[in-house]
Amino acid sequence: MIIKSIELTDFRNIEKERIEFSPTVNVICGRNAQGKTNIVEGIYLFARGKSFRAMKDKELIRFDSSVAYALMEYEKRAEGVKIGVQIPRTQPKSFYKNGARVQRTADIIGEFRAVLFCPSHLGIISDSPSVRRSFLDVAISQLKPIYIKLMTRYNSVMSSRNAILKMDDAERAKYRETIDFYSSELASICADIADARYEYVKKLDFWVKKFFEQMTDGRETPKISYETNAQGADFDTRASLKNRYAQLLTENLDREIRYGATAYGIHKDDLKIEINGKDARLYASQGQQRSLALAMKMAEGEISREHTGEYPVFLLDDVLSELDIERRKYVLSNINNRQVIITSCEPNYFDESDANFIWLNEGKLMPSAE
Ligand code: ATP
Ligand code: MG
Repeated sequence: MIIKSIELTDFRNIEKERIEFSPTVNVICGRNAQGKTNIVEGIYLFARGKSFRAMKDKELIRFDSSVAYALMEYEKRAEGVKIGVQIPRTQPKSFYKNGARVQRTADIIGEFRAVLFCPSHLGIISDSPSVRRSFLDVAISQLKPIYIKLMTRYNSVMSSRNAILKMDDAERAKYRETIDFYSSELASICADIADARYEYVKKLDFWVKKFFEQMTDGRETPKISYETNAQGADFDTRASLKNRYAQLLTENLDREIRYGATAYGIHKDDLKIEINGKDARLYASQGQQRSLALAMKMAEGEISREHTGEYPVFLLDDVLSELDIERRKYVLSNINNRQVIITSCEPNYFDESDANFIWLNEGKLMPSAE
């Protein structure tokens, strides 16, 4: 997957710019607060269907403007695609593919694939389980469009079930059958999601091992496994998974009523991450955590390539300055055979001849560094 260009109009601090990319290494350079991350945000919008940092779409619209636009041209298996988004201030945003309106945002996810790596991802090992679940969800949804629909349905059924669990006893007694229905529905969706996560984590484990061992010259061996409260189920059999979740949701109903929320299911999952048999979430050093985070992002790219036959675009936002020189060298030497878009305040990490430099000043492209 290769991005040819992106045109941003009234997007964040960019009034109107068309940025062209080379198929290899691109470096967006400029001082702080010039709009480097804004460009990455525009690109990644097409991968995830929403911004990776804005809470609301309208934050993307340039101050005092009424509509933001982004139009990206890219090649997918050597075929040109034009993808666009229009973000009005007072209405929901709409996506377009080759000129035709895309009905639902969920339908755009997976069309264009990118791996985003930014400084907050460096904390993934010791952050809360929700951060690791979100890593899995974002990565899997780019490969399996059905996954987003499953997650949406799961969240909606769970919140209806929680509403009943929170009722007082007399009120809840009227909904006995509805609870059973929701429990069985949740067990079924859990089985599908857990199956997808389990398959993904197996691949993640394979690739993270490979990258991490390279980084540490084989001295340290990581292991990533899927931590779920459906332990004991046979993960290769959907019926076994579904039965296990159904059993958990039925047997623990009284406990859940006291707790006032659904306590079992894929919203409690985590990634178990170990180095040489020790839980990395608790014991890994800062350096080990960074190497693992890096290995996970590189693994995400490999799994996407295995699944789709081509590399996704790699977006490295401001992360090189957070890595020490050894890890920086490792990243740069391992990603040079694919398209990567890097933002940096520090042009000296790169050779002029190795990279396409894009200079940015106050949201405008410049012919060169001032
Ligand atoms: P750093 O190197 O510090 O990460 P950056 O070049 O990545 O900086 P961005 O985050 O891309 O900076 O851009 C930040 C600039 O964009 C800020 O000056 C901010 O005020 C401006 N900005 C953000 N949202 C909008 C908006 N909706 N309209 C206009 N300007 C905006
Ligand atoms: Mg930035």
